[in-house]
Parts: sequence; structure tokens; C-alpha cells
Amino acid sequence: MIVRKNMAELEKMRASGLLVWKILDTLKKMVSEGVTTYDLEVTAEKMMAEAGARPAFKGYSTPAAGTKFPFVLCTSVNEEIVHGMPSQKRVLRKGDIVSIDTGVQLNGYYGDSAVTVPVGEISEETQKLLDVTRESLELAIDKARPGNRLFDICGTVERHVTSNGFTVVREFVGHGIGTKMHEEPQIPNYVDRRSENPRLKEGMVLAIEPMVNAGKPGSRVKPDKWTAVTEDGRYSAHFEHTVAVTANGPWVLTRP
Ligand code: MG
Ligand code: MG
Repeated sequence: MIVRKNMAELEKMRASGLLVWKILDTLKKMVSEGVTTYDLEVTAEKMMAEAGARPAFKGYSTPAAGTKFPFVLCTSVNEEIVHGMPSQKRVLRKGDIVSIDTGVQLNGYYGDSAVTVPVGEISEETQKLLDVTRESLELAIDKARPGNRLFDICGTVERHVTSNGFTVVREFVGHGIGTKMHEEPQIPNYVDRRSENPRLKEGMVLAIEPMVNAGKPGSRVKPDKWTAVTEDGRYSAHFEHTVAVTANGPWVLTRP
């Protein structure tokens, strides 16, 4: 069942969303050569504590992983797609890209967003990967309107990505969000004819998150049970926003 939220609930989600935005905006500005992904983690955890928010990722577990995720951020560098772990050993270098994904729970409601940031100068192809992934998210957000269907979002991401010569990851998907971080529906970044195609209605809140590979779509999970990487070792990008479907159109909760 897809849980719809009333305006009072959306206002609470807006507060969570804006905190997530503020954290990611701060971290984006921190990213540079010589910074470690753990430096980003420390800053994010401090900001959450100061805001009285609970980190959504720290302590999160899935049956597949079997362990609790130990950090407030997922930091996924280069060929890492999602769910990478911050580390003092992971020093960012010129030409890297780092996906920073985070979520908080504030007043009972979740916000979830991700951004992929270049470290110094990056190659033209990698820049195109970032641009196309970000564009695919923006185009998909525009489909989050009452009367459209879920596949309008999924298909929009897929078309924009594949028409630019990149591929979408199939093993990980976006999701509904609210009082739980992961609610129905699942939101693949491609049209999955085997899954449901519900009509979008006012009050639905969707975490739309294209994960886009420069090379082949295949992924595998590293022995740490969390970090997903591309099978072919080529780079992958990830952008995400939490978006409410409203009568006035899409309301991106995770940016001002
Ligand atoms: Mg996320
Ligand atoms: Mg998410």
C-alpha cells in the first residue's frame, strides 16, 4: 500500500528534507583533493546531532547485508555505485567522483537525498555521466504529478540515460518514503513490466534516485556486504531527491 501524506505531514517531511539538503550542501563544498570520505562523515554526524535529528542510515540493516550499516553517510567513489562506507583511508584524488547519500529522521519523518560531486578536474566523459544522471533526475521529477503513472518516472530516467549512451543499474531502486525510509512503491530506473504501475496521487512522496553506469549495467556487492560496484570497473553516478506529488506539481522536499 502506498501511504499518502496530508499537508501537515508534508511540512514535517519538508523539515527533514531541508536538513538533508543543508548537510549535502555543506559536504559538497568540503569535497576536494586530500579530504577523506570519513571527514565528510564526521561533519554530517555533527550536523545531525546539532539539529536533533536521527541518522537514517546508521544502524540500518537488510537481510542481504546481515549487519548494521555503521555510518550516517554512504560515500561511493568512482566505480562504487551506492552504499560505500566512509573511511579514513579513502583519500579523494583529482579526477575522482564521490556520491554522497544521506538521510535523516526528524519529528518522525524521513528525508533522503544524494549528490555526486567531482573532485577537482574530471574527464569530459565523466562530466557527461554526472550531467546526464542529474538531468535524468530532473526530468523524472517533472513527471511526479497527479494523474501520471509510476512508469512515467521510470521510463523517463531510462530513456534519457540510454539515449546518451549510458546504462541504468537494475539491482537498486528508488522508493516511497515517509515514517519509514523505505515505503512502497519501489521505483526502478527503468520500466519493469513485471512490477505494478500505480497512478500517482496527491500526497505520495517518492525518493527518486537514478544510478547510472558509464559502461555495462551489471553490479556486484563487495565482501563487506554493502558496497555495490560496477562489474566492469567503470564509473557510476547517483543523484536523489525526495519529492512530494501535489496538486501544484512536484515539490522537491530536499532542496530550498
Ligand atoms: Mg539515499
Ligand atoms: Mg533512497
